[in-house]
Amino acid sequence: MARYIGSVCKLCRRENDKLFLKGTRCFTDKCGMERRPYPPGQHGQRRTKISDFGIQLREKQKLKRIYGIKEKPMRNLFGTAVRMKGVTGENVLSLLERRLDNVVYKAGFAASRNEARQLVKHNHFILNGRKATIPSMKVSKNDVIELKSKSKESSKFKNAIENNLSYREVPSWIDIDKDNYKTTVKDLPKREDITASIEERLIVELYSK
Ligand code: SF4
Repeated sequence: MARYIGSVCKLCRRENDKLFLKGTRCFTDKCGMERRPYPPGQHGQRRTKISDFGIQLREKQKLKRIYGIKEKPMRNLFGTAVRMKGVTGENVLSLLERRLDNVVYKAGFAASRNEARQLVKHNHFILNGRKATIPSMKVSKNDVIELKSKSKESSKFKNAIENNLSYREVPSWIDIDKDNYKTTVKDLPKREDITASIEERLIVELYSK
């Protein structure tokens, strides 16, 4: 399946929730969900009855769209979550939150997860002193994510961190050293650290059918 290149605001409108896919714009009244809070398309404003399966499907799609991942990696991740100790739904969220592109986004280097994914792919970061160009890599406790020396010379990142963190909260499980462009994973993310409005139970029910 090719990557979605259409309007990301339509994805929010389809899920009837703000997924925060566009950076600063999401926090202004230009937000697509503020202006047209109904599903896209000719029949978007029609009332439709949604089945239990439909509700589960929409919740799964919402989660995939928030983190920008496709169906196959999502299924693989679910399989990993099932094999882990603990509650499967919470494991799914924790694994997604531990993705390298998500940490880069949370640390303020990028305005959106999509941009963070590009930055990782373009070889701007090192993880524990080693090259890290795979956005889906999972970080662990005490891992250190740092901007490469060459990228530190660019004022783009300094401005990005200042700007992005001015309107976004830094999660308690990471520690940011703004001056050295370094982020340390203090702990693994727990359910209460994940602020997206997701009912993970519905996703577990869907994938367990
Ligand atoms: Fe979603 Fe952001 Fe677009 Fe609003 S501006 S609809 S939150 S992507």
